Amino acid sequence: MNVMEIFKSMEYGPAPEAAAPGLTWMQEHAPFGLFINNQWVKPGSGQYMESINPATGRPLAQIASANSADVDAAVAAARAAFETWSKTPGHIRARYMYAIVRHIQKHSRLLAVLESLDNGKPIRETRDIDIPLVARHFYYHAGWAQLMASELPGYEPVGVVGQIIPWNFPLLMLAWKIAPALAMGNTVVLKPARYTSLTALKFAEILQEIGLPPGVVNIVTGEASQVGEALVRHPDVNKIAFTGSTDVGRSIRRATAGSGKKLSLELGGKSPFIVFDDADLDSVVEGVVDAIWFNQGQVCCAGSRLLVQENIAGRLIEKLRVRMEHLRIGDPLDKAVDIGAIVSPGQLKEIQRLVNQGVEEGAVMWQPSWACPTEGYFFPPTLFTNVSPATTIAQVEIFGPVLVSMTFRTPNEAVELANNTRYGLAASVWSENINLALDVAPKLKAGSVWINCTNLFDASSGFGGYRESGFGREGGKEGLYEYVRPKWESSTPATADDFHIVKDSTLPNSSRSSAHEKEVGEASHEEDVEPGSTNGFRPAFPSIDRTPKMFIGGKQVRSDSGYSRDVYDPGGHVVGQVGEGNRKDIRNAVEASHAASGWAAGTTHNRAQILFYIAENLAAREEEFARRIVQQTGRSYSDAVSEVEASISRLFSYAAWTDKFEGVVHRPPLRGAVLAMPEPIGVTAIACPEAYPLLGFISLVAPAIAMGNTVVVIPSQTSPLSATDFYQVLETSDLPGGVVNIVTGDRDTLSQVLADHDDVDAMWYFGPAEGCKRVELASSGNMKRTWVNYGHPRNWSDPVQGEGKEFLHESTQVKNIWIPYGE
Ligand code: NDP
Repeated sequence: MNVMEIFKSMEYGPAPEAAAPGLTWMQEHAPFGLFINNQWVKPGSGQYMESINPATGRPLAQIASANSADVDAAVAAARAAFETWSKTPGHIRARYMYAIVRHIQKHSRLLAVLESLDNGKPIRETRDIDIPLVARHFYYHAGWAQLMASELPGYEPVGVVGQIIPWNFPLLMLAWKIAPALAMGNTVVLKPARYTSLTALKFAEILQEIGLPPGVVNIVTGEASQVGEALVRHPDVNKIAFTGSTDVGRSIRRATAGSGKKLSLELGGKSPFIVFDDADLDSVVEGVVDAIWFNQGQVCCAGSRLLVQENIAGRLIEKLRVRMEHLRIGDPLDKAVDIGAIVSPGQLKEIQRLVNQGVEEGAVMWQPSWACPTEGYFFPPTLFTNVSPATTIAQVEIFGPVLVSMTFRTPNEAVELANNTRYGLAASVWSENINLALDVAPKLKAGSVWINCTNLFDASSGFGGYRESGFGREGGKEGLYEYVRPKWESSTPATADDFHIVKDSTLPNSSRSSAHEKEVGEASHEEDVEPGSTNGFRPAFPSIDRTPKMFIGGKQVRSDSGYSRDVYDPGGHVVGQVGEGNRKDIRNAVEASHAASGWAAGTTHNRAQILFYIAENLAAREEEFARRIVQQTGRSYSDAVSEVEASISRLFSYAAWTDKFEGVVHRPPLRGAVLAMPEPIGVTAIACPEAYPLLGFISLVAPAIAMGNTVVVIPSQTSPLSATDFYQVLETSDLPGGVVNIVTGDRDTLSQVLADHDDVDAMWYFGPAEGCKRVELASSGNMKRTWVNYGHPRNWSDPVQGEGKEFLHESTQVKNIWIPYGE
């Protein structure tokens, strides 16, 4: 073909990358062993599995298929290494990580070739996106290793981390997992996906090269049923970090429930790509190419639902078809190819099945006129129009190059359509009107929102989901918290129950003035408190009966059950009754919580004012609340006063934090900014600890509402009267109805209903270990976020354990909004 002919057809010629370096490396190393303790070892099973080149269907190499004994050996190696690695100074860890990244760069081309051969993705993507991002992750986290001591005081590494990664970004997912783990002083056992282990094995070789201490990173290849499950269930693994399908994420949530393992899950998505009528349509078309045809659409955050404003839909679809006609599919090692191969025949079949279903359900399918290669596993870019929002292809993650398009008329309709999915991983918004785009972004239920761009990732900016897309973040400072825990936790043993008051000099009474002590003490006479009396003294004539109710939607209501439960003092005398809450009460409370969602949209200044006001009104009734604590717990009066004062102080703390727990502006290598905004999680259910009936309640409710959540609270089961008294304080403090809902009754019965409830977004539970397990198990239904204490008591009176940023992190999820700028 001469130059004239090329100009006439504008056809690309082939531009192949040599496969030879990758193939030679494989020949030199295959069959591949397991990487344990910096040694290559044979699998205990003696079994190997084949890695296949999806572009040809031909085998590449034999990879060890480990069994659970191999997993045991890897975990033991990681545990032994943890002893020293966790104590290795941050600067030394940073040096190792720096060495890792330098060697990744030295081998970057080989890694890119191996990745394309093994996964089928175009070399353009592995060379220019995957591997540079891998390097960036290790650089960025080398920095956090260096800064850990100064920037995360009070935190320590979690321990041995089990990491399970998928096949769609094999080396990049490895980097997202291993870099923060090592930076924070953890050791790792990593399981690559069975289709794509090669780059993880090359990475292991790099670790040998740089002399990483043995056991710090162990790579165990094999089947999910052998390696993955063994890792998840292993008693000596302290955390599981998983990326993959929502179904497997759900099964891991169940398997780890109650084990005390920390868990982060990055799961599926069905991300909206929203185009308003003032968007630059040519940029939009290129955006769609990146959104859904990048990596053959096998991207968890792929913009797979195109939502277009109705008046421009026809024009955009036409432009898209023209562009699709020019996409090039073929050999992934060809540098001029846009779309490579699908990872496996099984995945290809699943894509075809869902596409057939879309056609059967009445949507209109369009594909370019050209044909795919017949060898290997290829699927053409596919566009569906005439899609109804409830159909399978509009709801299910197809994980292939398939785009479904729908239309909307108004911004509100766009938001509604965008959020009409069980997922919440990412979203793109396209408009030349920045006011509109920035108005829509916070309303989208998604962990990342890209404005006039899509599929941008950087180590500095956390990535992760809302709702059934999982929880936890990878990247950014927010991602580090997945790999650390508060230092005080390791010194607290688990107990059978949490009715455990810790006498602590940090209670405010140690600093209270003696005049105040006298004044309050004189009025009450601690020794005068008698069990069975109503307010700490025996009345001369019958007191007026006081009926604590439940508090739902800002109203005092009786329990639907029509039953009451007695509340006893420590001597066994009845001191009051509270309603026996049931399923219906919980349903009403959750509904009221949702109805109060405007609380999150209000200003932080307003929320802070209300929290201060609640504190003021509690202070006005300090004596009464102290007596109530004495009555229920039999503790001394001065101790009870201290609890009330600590509660007031805590309310002040969260009033203070309300407008100060801010996000950050990330600075990725991009002309633009990324706004990392902590957002409330939504409806948060809280089962309070038994101890500290007032302080325990306030320590949990205050941070949750300060951050904009609405709550359904089960107060202390044995001492609920402090909470039922407290709604009177709330009623006089301008708190909108429905922000705090209080349902009394049996903690575990009510917790179960809340944990099962699909409209509850998060559940906190502070009670016995078995209860924690039940909550974690049930939470897998809608993948709600949980925070439980695994039976470890907390000293609520100690500000280190009872308040602070840990509570604020639990009350929020970070949304990263990407805003590129410049013409
Ligand atoms: P999976 O979720 O099954 O696999 C992801 C990883 O988890 C792999 O390493 C897998 O091992 C491992 N794994 C699977 N089952 C278990 C288990 N019970 N316990 C522990 N580990 C387990 O994804 P698939 O590869 O099967 O893909 C299926 C679908 O999942 C895709 O079509 C897509 O919709 C979605 N997906 C989403 C991803 C995302 O990034 N969100 C990534 C990949 C897939 P092994 O490879 O040995 O099976």
